[in-house]
Amino acid sequence: MNVFACVACGHVDFPRRLLCPSCGHDDFAEVAASTGSVEEVTILHHRAGKAGGDIAYLATVLTHAGPRLIVRLERLLASGAVVSLRLESDGAIVGFSD
Ligand SMILES: [Zn+2]
Repeated sequence: MNVFACVACGHVDFPRRLLCPSCGHDDFAEVAASTGSVEEVTILHHRAGKAGGDIAYLATVLTHAGPRLIVRLERLLASGAVVSLRLESDGAIVGFSD
């Protein structure tokens, strides 16, 4: 997946913003953010609209490209684990490790 780097000052953000929060410029270049490090994991039980017993793992991941993202992990991982990232068609970001 990609994040967005301001061409004027280099500030990197996700999702893309109308204006750079750092300098106000409005032109961005896409930068690959294919991996990151898990910071914190939250375990969600019984998600609304889903059958009971469904568990989801949400993590804050600091991407190697810079921005911090909220990511759904395919399985429970510890803080510090390195994950690969992919953007799903529904806009969710999934983190996985092999
Ligand atoms: Zn900028």
